Amino acid sequence: MCESFNAVLKEVRDKPIITFMEWIRRYVMKRHYDKKVGVQGYEGRVMPFVTKYLKWVDNEARFCTLLPSISGEFEVQHRGVQKAVNLGNRTCSCRHWELSGLPCPHAIVCIRDQREEELDYVDEAYTKATYVKAFEHAIAAMPGYQDWEKVGQVSPLPPPFKKMPGRPKMKKRRREAGEESNGQQKE
Ligand SMILES: [Zn+2]
Repeated sequence: MCESFNAVLKEVRDKPIITFMEWIRRYVMKRHYDKKVGVQGYEGRVMPFVTKYLKWVDNEARFCTLLPSISGEFEVQHRGVQKAVNLGNRTCSCRHWELSGLPCPHAIVCIRDQREEELDYVDEAYTKATYVKAFEHAIAAMPGYQDWEKVGQVSPLPPPFKKMPGRPKMKKRRREAGEESNGQQKE
């Protein structure tokens, strides 16, 4: 998240603090608006990513065979390896389900075997309702700085500029240790 946010800030990173903060506020305001409008076009309970994922899982599930136990657990054979699935706890020994919140192919065959709904086993984080909730907080519109309340304090000014000896530094990012100027890694 930090990396993505930092990449967005690239164009204003060298601006004065108020300009910088205002840019972020306006960016987030627009982003929330775009996300809210964008999601209105989505049909169904889950976000499109899940539908795409389930299509992939559907393909993998063809290579699975299962063996149920009365404990409510299943043994699933998949491409020569065996996994243990527990539908009640929403776990599989491949760990994919616990880590991602999306049922793995092993779990999917078990869900189908029980004639249950696949989407009921997808984590709530992937639902449209959760997505809408994430962007429901509005950033209020506000007038420009000319209309801001005067508080009678001394205006903050930039520190006095002092010319340093030598050639001025070029605006370049600091390279990592061992990184060449062309972006290649040294041995
Ligand atoms: Zn699994």
